[in-house]
Amino acid sequence: MQRLLQPVYAISLIVVLFMAGCAVNPVTGKNELSLISPKQEIALGEKNYEPSRQSQGGDYYLEAELQAYVRSVGNRLAAQSDRPDLPYEFIVLNNSVPNAWALPGGKIAINRGLLDYLDDESQLAAVLAHEIVHAAARHGASQMSRGTLANIGMLAVAVGTQSHDGSQLYAAASQLGAAAWMAKYGRDDELESDYYGMEYMARAGYDPQGAVELQRTFVKLSEGRKTDFISGLFASHPPSVRRVEANVARAKTLPGGQRYRARYQAAIAQLKKDAPAYSTQTTAVAALNKKQGKEALAALDKAVALQPGESAFWELRGQAWKLVDNLANADRAFTTAISKNPGYFSPYLARGVLRHERGQTDRGLTDIKRSYALLPTSTASYYLGEEAMAKEQYSLAAKYFKQTYQAGGDLAARSKQQLQAIQLELEPQSFIAARLLLSDRRELLVRTTNNSPVTMSVVQLRLNIAGQTSYLTLPQPLAAGQTITLGTGIGPIVDSGSQYLVEVAAAAIDR
Ligand SMILES: [Zn+2]
Repeated sequence: MQRLLQPVYAISLIVVLFMAGCAVNPVTGKNELSLISPKQEIALGEKNYEPSRQSQGGDYYLEAELQAYVRSVGNRLAAQSDRPDLPYEFIVLNNSVPNAWALPGGKIAINRGLLDYLDDESQLAAVLAHEIVHAAARHGASQMSRGTLANIGMLAVAVGTQSHDGSQLYAAASQLGAAAWMAKYGRDDELESDYYGMEYMARAGYDPQGAVELQRTFVKLSEGRKTDFISGLFASHPPSVRRVEANVARAKTLPGGQRYRARYQAAIAQLKKDAPAYSTQTTAVAALNKKQGKEALAALDKAVALQPGESAFWELRGQAWKLVDNLANADRAFTTAISKNPGYFSPYLARGVLRHERGQTDRGLTDIKRSYALLPTSTASYYLGEEAMAKEQYSLAAKYFKQTYQAGGDLAARSKQQLQAIQLELEPQSFIAARLLLSDRRELLVRTTNNSPVTMSVVQLRLNIAGQTSYLTLPQPLAAGQTITLGTGIGPIVDSGSQYLVEVAAAAIDR
């Protein structure tokens, strides 16, 4: 009989108590279950606002006036909301994908790509009021209570994961990877946001017809299946005829108001002027993704001539120079990109990776650390893991490699290897397997396998035989993958009622 002797696990029962509370929804007046407090909700929004903006192209920095304008429209609506005391913020993101989103606690963003599609201030008010309701009515918080809102911080980390060769950097720089990763609210939440958003519009003096037109435009665009919309706004806010009809009915119950078309058109005049430059950027990104460096450079020359202030064009230029192997020009272009928009993670990461790859490790790491402080991407995390590894700071290295590994992508496989290397350093014994078996003559044997990729010079086993502990050191080093079976000198065994146990006590790597 062969007895496999199992260790006994103490099972600890962890009881998680949810502090469930019922609260009155400040917008709808309905009683509903809420698992997080308004304070936690605000803290969550504040914590994630900056990395969310970074991961979605960063703030649009070319025109402070446009930011101020959108902020003033947002604040005017927020003051009329059912929760005017939330710490609202309204930011225009440097992102061509038409999208808008709200984090819990009133942290709201609208992409410049959506501003292009709006015609007047009442339509902008419709977008912002809708997002204000998501925050005021705690839609994010109730999503979270239902366990469906993903951890935003983790998602931010996953930006820039796809590739080590720079292709993910094009996506980050061009903001084309900016899919609507934000909380996907339910259909009821969308209808509720439209309904109360129109009320806020009316209270703030806007014509609620703006919301009707907005939905009509979106339905039309969704029928045309414009891909940038499908990956953007429509993914998080599906348009529908039902929503149009609901808005038409709602508008009839509300007073009319202002449109402010001239004011809106004046505010987006520069964006309209820059539209050809941003569409040339799209051409350049397509060329880069096809590894056509020269074509990309030609498109970027054009884009830069149209709008020399746009950092993203310079960063892409750097990627294009890298592709045609002019690394000095690439470095210069990334440096220009940083000088144009020093608060954005992406050009630091691009220059840091370039310098690291060129053997300028310390200078590269300086940039990579700046980028990581702005947005902890999995790419930056990998290089920081390598640095910690070189300094033999294994648990810090493991933290970085785990981030990269969990984000997936090309660097995930390398991170996994690194994590194994760390485990080998910290717990070499965990790579050794040992088990007891009986010979034909019922003598107790121990079979030991080295599952690591290196030779183990010392392997010590701990035996527990019928309550007696003894140690057994293997008489020879154990090569990678090698299995040896040894006698223990115990046996023949007749008493099958006793406990026999073997564990790996220690192992050391052969250096
Ligand atoms: Zn919505």
